[in-house]
Amino acid sequence: MRVLLLTDIHANLVALEAVLADAEGQWEQLWFLGDLVGYGPQPNECVERLRALAPLALSGNHDWAVLGKLDDEDFNSDARYVARWTRRVLTADNRDYLNTLPPLRVEPPFTLAHASPRHPVWEYILDLPTALENFAHFDTSYCLVGHTHVPAVFALDEASGGVDFALIEHGDVLDLSRHRLIVNPGGVGQPRDGDPRAAYALLDTEAMRMTFHRVAYDVAATQALMREQKLPRRLIKRLEQGL
Ligand code: ZN
Repeated sequence: MRVLLLTDIHANLVALEAVLADAEGQWEQLWFLGDLVGYGPQPNECVERLRALAPLALSGNHDWAVLGKLDDEDFNSDARYVARWTRRVLTADNRDYLNTLPPLRVEPPFTLAHASPRHPVWEYILDLPTALENFAHFDTSYCLVGHTHVPAVFALDEASGGVDFALIEHGDVLDLSRHRLIVNPGGVGQPRDGDPRAAYALLDTEAMRMTFHRVAYDVAATQALMREQKLPRRLIKRLEQGL
């Protein structure tokens, strides 16, 4: 099966449409690792677009904040502002859909978690010690995560007990036949690795291979919609910086 792997759409419909167009015809199932809303200007449109694709989907910390399942006092003021704005504009139907999504699920040989297998809605896997500890918190060979918005691979070397780390670029191919891995495809709606292009991955579960992609989208169009909704200026600016 060929899987389109997405995470952190963050209510950025323009970025989501660019990814769907770029990946068209190359997948049979969509896996989404959470944070469908928050930060961006089109939460209802994104929920409805994704939902119609019948994805195997998770919820993330921003979804939980909007649902009131997580205290948004832990968010910075900009993220909190948009979480509360999203709560006001989200339809009851779309809220109900988000509410059905778990933050973690197991699809052997993959574990899917929004943030980490240890703390599925909150922990950032950005360093080797955190990655190493998390390998003890899932039983499958591979764990797919989002949350950091940075495409990356952590590989456990079972002989030495150490972890290797690599950042991922457009066009990289990952062979899944060796090692236990934690893989992050990078964010669709708000990339944070300095490259503003939307990130996604294609996973082939027969060839056991992942390919990583970046696609440019009309950042100015999303920014204009954010300005219309009076969303925080810092969040509008960061989209063009990919930070
Ligand atoms: Zn996120």
